[in-house]
Amino acid sequence: MPLTDSYGRAIRDLRISITDRCNYRCVYCRTGNEGAQFAELPLADYLRMARVFVSLGITKIRLTGGEPLMRRDIVQLVRELSALRTPTGARPELALTTNGHLLAEMVTPLKQAGLDRVTVSMDAVDPERFARITRVKGSYPAVLAGLRAARNAGLGPVKVNCVLLRGFNEDQIEAFGRFACDEHVAVRFIEFMPLEEGRVWSPQVVVPLAEILERMARFAPFEEIAHEPSSTSRRYRFADGGEFGIIAPVTLPFCGACSRIRLTSDGKIRTCLFSLREHDLHAAIRSGLPDEELVRIIEHAVAHKEERHHIGEPGFVQPGRTMVHIGG
Ligand code: SAM
Repeated sequence: MPLTDSYGRAIRDLRISITDRCNYRCVYCRTGNEGAQFAELPLADYLRMARVFVSLGITKIRLTGGEPLMRRDIVQLVRELSALRTPTGARPELALTTNGHLLAEMVTPLKQAGLDRVTVSMDAVDPERFARITRVKGSYPAVLAGLRAARNAGLGPVKVNCVLLRGFNEDQIEAFGRFACDEHVAVRFIEFMPLEEGRVWSPQVVVPLAEILERMARFAPFEEIAHEPSSTSRRYRFADGGEFGIIAPVTLPFCGACSRIRLTSDGKIRTCLFSLREHDLHAAIRSGLPDEELVRIIEHAVAHKEERHHIGEPGFVQPGRTMVHIGG
């Protein structure tokens, strides 16, 4: 029996942030003035918490941050996570979300350690625009090299996540269509959520699903791929096989099908990106408590998972932690 919340949702996906440091300062995510704000833990502690989660039926673990490749010991963590087994004896699926800057040189050891899949974040496919967004010179060629290395190493299907903001990069949609076809990657556009340091979010900044489809049709015709009702993304295929998707948490929320739980770099459980309350799992480790106590804290957190987010509603409260400090 998997972990199940009070709304009947099975919790299968764990996202672990292993640092809230990042080597990019993407303008829509960070002000550029804030650094790391929360502790990062010894790998053994993430591993222990992950082991308990997996014993409770988590089948997929995604490592994220901050920028997870800032921790060079990530290879060791992947190796040890890969040795975990679910109650049915299966190996958990291991994925990584990265900005890709350091990926090219780490792809082979990560693959050998047991990593299954990589998602690379890219918000433009134009080198100058990319450098302006990330505030790092030479970022585009570095990320492109990382993405290609991941694809060639078989860490795929490689997905590319692009956050769209009106007046900022929605003119890149058609170019991303071309990029998806040329590079054989699945591009997924993600609606911008109110989780940024600079508090620039407004409903007007969100580029909604309908508009993305309208713009992409100017690049090439495509058809929708059938999806599970629980799927968090809508997927579309171009005639030549290229693919793109849209994740629309704001205009097409999928909270009813959410199977996720998050662990922050300092060991706090968050049951929603927009949680206003965290559950301190690492406190149990610091206090020397046994695994049974970690199980109790996890089950308590899952039982209190929020029904849905309230983005755009009157009274919406933006959480104190922003995306880079939660783990996207
Ligand atoms: N550094 C890694 C990376 O770049 O993929 C992992 C962490 S980053 C916070 C994860 C993802 O969150 C990135 O794709 C980023 O674009 C996205 N993101 C950041 N702020 C966001 C926001 N306010 N709304 C939606 N996505 C956001």
